Amino acid sequence: AHLDRIAEVDGTYHAFLHVAAEPALAAAAAVDAAIAAGSVASPLAGVPLALKDVFTTTDMPTTCASKILEGWVPPYDATVTTKLREAGLPILGKTNMDEFAMGSSTENSAYGPTLNPVDPERIPGGSGGGSAAVLASWQAPLSIGTDTGGSIRQPAAMTGTVGTKPTYGTVSRYGLVACASSLDQGGPCGRTVLDTALLHQVIAGYDPRDSTSRHAEVPDVVGAARLGAQGDLRGVKVGVVRELHSDSYQPGVIASFDAAVAQLKDLGAEVIEVSCPSFEHALAAYYLILPSEVSSNLARFDAMRYGLRVDDDGRHSADQVMAASRAAGFGPEVKRRIMIGTYALSAGYYDAYYGKALQVRTMIARDFDAAYEQVDVLVSPTSPVTAWKLGEKVNDPLAMYLQDLCTLPLNLAGYCGMSVPSGLAREDGLPVGLQIMAPALADDRLYRVGAAYE
Ligand code: GLN
Repeated sequence: AHLDRIAEVDGTYHAFLHVAAEPALAAAAAVDAAIAAGSVASPLAGVPLALKDVFTTTDMPTTCASKILEGWVPPYDATVTTKLREAGLPILGKTNMDEFAMGSSTENSAYGPTLNPVDPERIPGGSGGGSAAVLASWQAPLSIGTDTGGSIRQPAAMTGTVGTKPTYGTVSRYGLVACASSLDQGGPCGRTVLDTALLHQVIAGYDPRDSTSRHAEVPDVVGAARLGAQGDLRGVKVGVVRELHSDSYQPGVIASFDAAVAQLKDLGAEVIEVSCPSFEHALAAYYLILPSEVSSNLARFDAMRYGLRVDDDGRHSADQVMAASRAAGFGPEVKRRIMIGTYALSAGYYDAYYGKALQVRTMIARDFDAAYEQVDVLVSPTSPVTAWKLGEKVNDPLAMYLQDLCTLPLNLAGYCGMSVPSGLAREDGLPVGLQIMAPALADDRLYRVGAAYE
């Protein structure tokens, strides 16, 4: 049924870069056989899903929406891919994204943008716009995204769906093509909080193949979602972050957020205002740290080992082939960030830019820690605005970056967060997201509060 739905509507939305009908049907048949034999792999066995095209898959291409990896079929599966296969979730295909996960609108895909199913004249958010759009257009009941600075949460907000950025180190990055390694984290997307929790449970856990993987038990996110669904938040302390609530945000977003806070109070939560003064510097710090890591990580695309090679007559030097291949293979946003990062890391500038940004990063984590001494979770709007029109910001990178200010602090600290639908903005009728944030390894709190609110 989902493959039929994809055939029917994805020509319009372009949420998929690759549809894997045969492997998905084969995986589904294998699950049916397992059920008939009395051995069911997991509660989600047989439920199909879509995977962001940044996780490696041996039976389909992995392009990261870049020309430099066009047609590349990886020799190994990401740990997330393996866990999905082992739990019996057929993978319907790979979803569209901003190239190498850099962007907030999915317009930086080298294969064309994804349209927002809520309003096809608008962007679905980014970088994981495809993973959110498949949910909003009923092409898949679940999907996987990655969140380096908001790429799971912001598309969820803009499409009226749910998405979680788990605590850094709790979902393996093995086989997740790196954007900024110290920030990247895979996570689950769904249409309800409980669906998302069930998927979270499948993909999280320690992985010896990821050197930053945490040796920690996965909190009981499914139990927390079930508890939250009972609608009782008595005893839960919620902090409203003063620095993420501003008159400069879209009025309908603020109105929706204020209504959400009132609802949390009605559910019994105690709500107080907290201040995290360093959050104001998160955007500046993020847009130095991310490009710095990008400039290093993307050096691997050298036209020698895999991917695009531009070598017209085979008589050019390695340097010339590398330069021509990178010039042809990377899009403008990726090049911009490689250049910014190379500059920020260069001798003489390192301390002033990268070093300073790392100090800010520490201050942001301290602000979170101080807040969590007073409250169990923090809340804010997920995005200061609703989905904008396609093309509106694509030629103004700074305008695009500025929309990320609510989601970035969390990635810099390595903590966890979720976006849940929070109604529609009054002026444009478009979805708004409520962002819920919690300390490291307290992902269960997101699900309890999210399920109570939803
Ligand atoms: N929009 C942010 C950026 O462009 C976040 C991207 C992400 O989370 N992958 O970097």
